[in-house]
Amino acid sequence: MMANPHALIEGAAISQYAMGSDHAFIYLRGEVVHVYRRLLRAVEEATAAGYLGENVLGSGITLRVTPHAGAGAYICGEETALLDSLEGRRGQPRLKPPFPGAAGLYARPTSVNNVETIASVPGILLHGADWFKAMGTEKSTGFGIFSLSGHVANPGQFEAPLGITMRELIELAGGMRKGHQLKFWTPGGSSTPIFTDAHLDIPLDFDSVAAAGSMLGTRALQVFDETVSVVRAVARWTEFYAHESCGKCTPCREGTWWLRQIMERLEHGQGQPGDIEKLDDICDNILGRSFCALGDAATSPITSAIKHFRSEFEAGMHTPAAQLFPPEKSVLFRWHPGAVPCRRPRAP
Ligand code: SF4
Repeated sequence: MMANPHALIEGAAISQYAMGSDHAFIYLRGEVVHVYRRLLRAVEEATAAGYLGENVLGSGITLRVTPHAGAGAYICGEETALLDSLEGRRGQPRLKPPFPGAAGLYARPTSVNNVETIASVPGILLHGADWFKAMGTEKSTGFGIFSLSGHVANPGQFEAPLGITMRELIELAGGMRKGHQLKFWTPGGSSTPIFTDAHLDIPLDFDSVAAAGSMLGTRALQVFDETVSVVRAVARWTEFYAHESCGKCTPCREGTWWLRQIMERLEHGQGQPGDIEKLDDICDNILGRSFCALGDAATSPITSAIKHFRSEFEAGMHTPAAQLFPPEKSVLFRWHPGAVPCRRPRAP
């Protein structure tokens, strides 16, 4: 959206025409104001050039694209919460059916797609389906954007064929930061079970990642080296999910709050006997019992981290994570001597 917004706008125009629709909305988080402005400007440019609006290029066809900035909620990535937010309501998932294809935005038939999918459309039309299928693997064809963040030398967005491995992507990103080794990483963002250095050669396609016990998800590959406490990282993610839970259903609303209490105890070295089993039990009661995927997402980092790094959770019974893994060793910005690490107050 920043580097080439017209690929997305052209894809939206083509998709509208293919579906017999005359209006597309691009919904994005309100915090990304620079991206929103970039899209608004690109829509103005496309309209001025005659590619959008009424009677596109004298064809009699109307195609409209409206970028819309939400108020900033993770749950609005769920398609029906997104539609409610777009209609001006609080972003909460809808009961399905009816699915958006039957009754979506303003109860009209609606197709909801990721912007990456729509931005791929012009290239496929231009070069043909065989060109696209020549990349990737048999079942996960084509290419996609892999976002590497964290302890690599050059974090960024890498467009690559599906099936590329994490080892290759880390090489593209200039390797791990100097003098450090990979400890764990997320294949599809914090909502997917974590991987370790034992998973570096798994092809990053949908089937292979699922077979290895995780999900490709958003392809947000967060990379952590040996200086990072797994317990501290998972505690931050758990806080995030507790904060972003929309509160509609009990397993997620209550469960994420309980998970947060226990993770905070463990992070501060104040874990109680049975806490690890309690984490597993609460996750078991959220997984598959929540109204939407956010509840499931909150459990993935916890259960996978316990599976791969149980000893760090056990250490949380007596030793603070900050003592085992001093935060100043993992920060990527310059650490000022004498600075006091931020300590969040314990939740009541
Ligand atoms: S799982 Fe969480 S985010 Fe989804 S509906 Fe339930 S409370 Fe809301």
